[in-house]
Amino acid sequence: MKFISTRGKSFAKNAAEAITKGLADDGGLFVPEIFPDMGGEFENLLEMDYAETACLVLSKFLTEYDYDQLLSACKSAYSKFENGEPAPLVKTGENFYILELFHGPTLAFKDIALTLLPYLLRKGADLCGIKDNILILVATSGDTGKAALEGFKNADGIKIMVFYPSDGVSDMQKLQMCTQEGDNVNVVAVKGNFDDCQTAVKNIFSSAEAAGELKKRNCVLSSANSINFGRLAPQIAYYFSAYFDLVSNGEIKLGDKINFVVPTGNFGNILAGYYAKRMGLPVDKLVCASNSNNVLTEFFSDGEYNADREFYKTMSPSMDILISSNLERLVFELSGRDADITSKRMAELKKEGRYNISQKELNILEKDFFADYCDEDECRATISGFFEECGYVLDPHTSVAVDVADSFLSYSDSKNATVILSTASPYKFSQNVLYSITGKNERDPFKAADKLSKETAEPVPDKILELKNKSVRFNGIIEKSEALRSVISFAEK
Ligand SMILES: *Cc1c(COP(=O)(O)O)cnc(C)c1O
Repeated sequence: MKFISTRGKSFAKNAAEAITKGLADDGGLFVPEIFPDMGGEFENLLEMDYAETACLVLSKFLTEYDYDQLLSACKSAYSKFENGEPAPLVKTGENFYILELFHGPTLAFKDIALTLLPYLLRKGADLCGIKDNILILVATSGDTGKAALEGFKNADGIKIMVFYPSDGVSDMQKLQMCTQEGDNVNVVAVKGNFDDCQTAVKNIFSSAEAAGELKKRNCVLSSANSINFGRLAPQIAYYFSAYFDLVSNGEIKLGDKINFVVPTGNFGNILAGYYAKRMGLPVDKLVCASNSNNVLTEFFSDGEYNADREFYKTMSPSMDILISSNLERLVFELSGRDADITSKRMAELKKEGRYNISQKELNILEKDFFADYCDEDECRATISGFFEECGYVLDPHTSVAVDVADSFLSYSDSKNATVILSTASPYKFSQNVLYSITGKNERDPFKAADKLSKETAEPVPDKILELKNKSVRFNGIIEKSEALRSVISFAEK
């Protein structure tokens, strides 16, 4: 399948090329030329396990990848999850379900794509005949960095460099990254917030100087952020698996519509849900849940995207984002796939920090989406209330989603099954979760994890305990203007 750029001046002849490049040459994002229809596969999907579902969904886009090889890659990636189940559903109330996406190697939903991306990229580069080394640049708000490092460590012909905001991630997230093992990895803190990291990385992608310097060192760049279609595509699969699990368990009938509530930052996760809907999955509303950085909530309500605003550091740091990259893919669809309008809007965003969509587009948007946000007090109250009521411990990101689900359900009176996407283990944010549930302050993340475990009678995950004994390998901190230089010197090593 061919991939086109949201800015219209570039394309990729197939998925392999789109995945290997990451970002289109014109600065736009690659989108599939059409949305394949999954309607004819519903009976098959009812019988499939997670890896088979993922392979089937991916194969509709990755038409040049060998199906059997892709299936074994999916099986191997998803065997790395607890009990071999990447996306178990837990029922916590009438018509209310939590889709737990955090049972992978780094305890966040990013693992679902990043355990598979190394295969998609390696194979993609081979299919494109690329002989150079691949250098993957990652900007992270906390979880992508670790999941990508773990996925790509010691991969042949691939190096990976991660940029994270110096004080924009949780203690556990930072420790996870800075203790990373592997001889092809590098991790640096950037002074600033996630948007600074993301902008620095995107500028390197679109810099001819960077490409030239790296070419001299036999390197080409790629991305493991959700701007890369290879990162986005595996995320479509769990919307399907959740739906067909509900049907198999007799919770809904085939054809019933359901809602998904998604804690949103860079708009990658929820966009995968929108793609699933466009592929024929019976989805009613996609609910976009934000924290105090509520730029998306306002966009969905009045059609103006305005990133020129105060930035808040919250207890859900992976959603502390003002420029949601993947929204460009949605805006492209809303405009009727008008690349000129999309380019113009993205140029305005870069220059003025804002752009508008039309009333007609806003009306289209409202058919598929509902959006709201949750502040810090509400987030804490939801963690403690949900634990009291259901005995279930939410991480702060998932708590934002549960809070917004409540406002959505009281506003819409929807009788559909509603699925919350749970994106991280609460132990990655142990201090804040402990405080929310018990009112106790504990600064040490491991002691907080231990106390949380005693309070909730749930064991601390091994991946957290292991961190305690690992030594810190990376402690560099740079200005964002130094990013390119640090990339070139890493490429030389
Ligand atoms: C990345 C992340 C999010 C936001 O997902 P997007 O795809 O960026 O919208 C939410 N919660 C957690 C825990 C995350 O790691």
